[in-house]
Amino acid sequence: MSRPRIIEMECPHCGSVEKIQIWESANVSLDPSFKEKILNGDLFKFRCSKCGQIYTVNYGFIYHDMDKKLMIVVSDNIEHSTDLINEFMNAGKSFGADASDYTYRIVNNRNELVEKIMIFDVGANDRVVEYFKYLHLQKLRQEHPEINDPLAFFNVYDGNDLSLDFYDDHFKMIDQVPLKLQMISKQFENVKKDEFVINQEWAAKSLLSKE
Ligand SMILES: [Zn+2]
Repeated sequence: MSRPRIIEMECPHCGSVEKIQIWESANVSLDPSFKEKILNGDLFKFRCSKCGQIYTVNYGFIYHDMDKKLMIVVSDNIEHSTDLINEFMNAGKSFGADASDYTYRIVNNRNELVEKIMIFDVGANDRVVEYFKYLHLQKLRQEHPEINDPLAFFNVYDGNDLSLDFYDDHFKMIDQVPLKLQMISKQFENVKKDEFVINQEWAAKSLLSKE
């Protein structure tokens, strides 16, 4: 089920306070139209009825793909998100449904959500993607110490060209590394089921602990 919620929001352009409808959860198997709106950002865009300007609200919610057995919580509260995931698993058990073979992730924002959706849609392993990002970011930082905080995002072009795109802190693309699915596929999965946050901090910790 996809659950809507009405909240009050102040337009960042004119300050008018309006009621907008956001989503607590989006089930893209039952409502496939959600997926496109998430990928293109429309689900987070609102038009102010007073000044007519469009603004984006980065609200937290739960992305649920029943076909792929994938659940992604968008939230800046990891503890609360972990509770939500555990509740979902327990609720599944009480209905006799097995939610333990789901992949669960917690991400911070919409960009990270879109990236995870693309990674899982092509059948890649997000842990390996984060390793690749981490190693290439290390190299970029050494070669370009003038760039503060370079960023990396996984991207899919024309449906099947995979790449890691690197940006500087002004979001200008500074490098692009093509990836082959064989390099990042699920076969490398050494699954730790209760790890829900797979990001650059995770990659750094995980690689250091292997050294
Ligand atoms: Zn306005």
